[in-house]
Amino acid sequence: MDSIQDLQAKLASGAVSAEALVSESLKKIDATKNLNAYISVLNERALDKAKESDKRRAEGKSLGALDGIPVAIKDNMCLEGSRTTAASKILENFVAPYTATAVEKLEAAGAIIVGKTNMDEFAMGSSSESSFFGPVKNPLDESRVPGGSSGGSAVAVASGTVPCALGSDTGGSIRQPAACTGVVGLKPTYGRVSRYGLLAYASSLDQIGPFGTNAADCATLLSAICGIDPHDNTTSTRPTEDFGAKLDAGVKGKVIGVPKEYFGEGLDPECKAAIDGMLKKMEAEGATLKEVSLPHIRFAVSSYYIIATAEASSNLSRYDGVRYGYRSKDARKLFDLYAKSRSEGFGKEVQRRILLGSYVLSAGFYDAYYVQAQKVRRLITDDFTKAFESCDVIASPTMPGLPLKCGMNESDPMAVYLSDIYTVSLNLSGLPGVSVPCGKAGGLPVGLQWIGKPFQEADLLSVAAAMEALNK
Ligand code: GLN
Repeated sequence: MDSIQDLQAKLASGAVSAEALVSESLKKIDATKNLNAYISVLNERALDKAKESDKRRAEGKSLGALDGIPVAIKDNMCLEGSRTTAASKILENFVAPYTATAVEKLEAAGAIIVGKTNMDEFAMGSSSESSFFGPVKNPLDESRVPGGSSGGSAVAVASGTVPCALGSDTGGSIRQPAACTGVVGLKPTYGRVSRYGLLAYASSLDQIGPFGTNAADCATLLSAICGIDPHDNTTSTRPTEDFGAKLDAGVKGKVIGVPKEYFGEGLDPECKAAIDGMLKKMEAEGATLKEVSLPHIRFAVSSYYIIATAEASSNLSRYDGVRYGYRSKDARKLFDLYAKSRSEGFGKEVQRRILLGSYVLSAGFYDAYYVQAQKVRRLITDDFTKAFESCDVIASPTMPGLPLKCGMNESDPMAVYLSDIYTVSLNLSGLPGVSVPCGKAGGLPVGLQWIGKPFQEADLLSVAAAMEALNK
């Protein structure tokens, strides 16, 4: 589908109506069902909203850049009256009683939610294969995964069903699927976007963010969804911004930090060549490349999996078969009800993480694992602070190689965890990051991840836009 900007021009000139755009989106969703990108499609609701948008426009009351634009949201975000499953059997029939703040803001800006996208169960994974509703397929190569956990949202954009979508990112779940499917995906600074109504995985790491086919569209979405929210105490008090304001700034005079730990062993040589090539082009445009060091980064994956699973084990304790969600039919006693509902309702990966999280928080191991991981988290944050003393942005691969082959989550979960090496440190330190398509390796897209200082999303998006111009 065209970009938001192009669609908006067509809407404004009357060349197309919101109703026609939404119908086209719904048809495309139907035609690409084989990719399994959506869990629910909101046909009627979306068409009704499209009619309202057309009516507003006819009355000269258009709400702006997003009015009438079809958008998909990950199925871990609540939308009042709609099924919200987090791709889990335990929430298979859960209908949200309220709407997530980010989604509410999108709708207030006139965007039309056409569907809820497929994902790894409870956002745990990097492949979008662990969904109760079956795996999401990568439209570019069906033998490989689309990345995860927001694979459905990435595929929804990459396959042209919508111009843009929302995902959530706890350790890379927006940036990785963006890289695997050749679209742009941004994880905002922690606190930039409200988490109210996002089904929690790991609360100190989770952030909602945009997918689009270009940096400008991600800026438009982020500008709509950001801001302080009385329902989420961790949202920042910073005023909302127009994140598209610096899109034409270019990279002249910018200092790009290149971490020496990121470009050595473990990175696929073809991916490295694609990224090196882009960095050289930026140098020719007047940017300066500066080697920086992130000495504690080698501990990032281990500390991430301790902290994320610890928080997950606590967050997921609410699914007990009593208050809402799946309840086992054949439990006789209260304990049985908990145990059976949870063992039947949660998938294997989620159970693995609850076990790991309960273990690292348990009396004998809390100091040895959880406390150590929190100390490492601080050291990694300090590494970034120090690196940013000598550069404006940091360049990094998004993924260590091509999108993984289907089925690896079953056969080698450790290898899948390790593929998070470049993304998890941003969640540990709260920093913003954006993955931008950067050429190809083995015929598949490569993602270049730009890491920014806290709350500098506008700068990140300006570098992303400069890169898009050089890609052309
Ligand atoms: N792959 C990471 C995990 O499995 C990140 C997932 C995410 O960002 N939601 O935890």
